[in-house]
Parts: sequence; C-alpha cells; structure tokens
Amino acid sequence: MEPSRIRQQLGYLKKERNYLEYKLVRPYQMVPYSLVRLANICGKPRCRCKKGKPHGPYWYLSTKEKGKTRMIYLPKKEVASFIPLVERYKEYQSSLTKLRRLNQKIIQSLTQIEKASFTKPEQKIRKKD
Ligand SMILES: [Zn+2]
Repeated sequence: MEPSRIRQQLGYLKKERNYLEYKLVRPYQMVPYSLVRLANICGKPRCRCKKGKPHGPYWYLSTKEKGKTRMIYLPKKEVASFIPLVERYKEYQSSLTKLRRLNQKIIQSLTQIEKASFTKPEQKIRKKD
C-alpha cells in the first residue's frame, strides 16, 4: 500500500482510538461480575430437588478469581439495579479488546510506512570513478 494511503488509514484509526479512549477514561460505576441464574440442589436427602424439581432458579453475580468461580447470591429485588452495572463492565471489556486491536493495526500501519522508507545501503554508498 502507498504510504499516503497508509497515512490516511492511520488517521481513521487514531480517530477511532481517541473515541474509545474518551469513553474508557471516565467510566460509570460497574461491577466486574456477570449475572447468572442457577437452579440448586440442596443437601437434604429426600428433598423434591432430588426428583428433578430443583430450587430456584436464583440470581447470582459470578466472577472468576484466580481460576476459581466466585458467586454472590443476589436477591430478586436487586437484580434490576445490577443489570446496568454488569452491562457496563461487559462493554468496558469489549472496548478494551477493540482498543488492543486498533493499537495492533496502528503498529502494523507504522511498520508498513517504515518498510516503505527503507533504502538499500548499497545505493547510498558513493562509488569512486
Ligand atoms: Zn432440595
């Protein structure tokens, strides 16, 4: 690709990156969990849950800590207020992923520009005549 075309593309990429950074730099409150609904089976030996009628389903906030799943029980009346907090976290993560990809593209473009400006040293060495 022509360096001028690459520079133009870089301009677009930088605009996109600015927009993402603008969004990411002052986030609203969020919680680093996802919302899950789970039905439970209890410890009572003759409970109905053992006959295919589990308890719940109940809502939980779920996350991974050092490879282990951590769950926090969420009372039903709290669910609605946690939805935006959880969604914002999800969106933040996906924006970070986009930012990483954009940075890669920017580096790739700069590498192309770098290569386009390479010149062979043999052509620069003046020959005696
Ligand atoms: Zn049970």
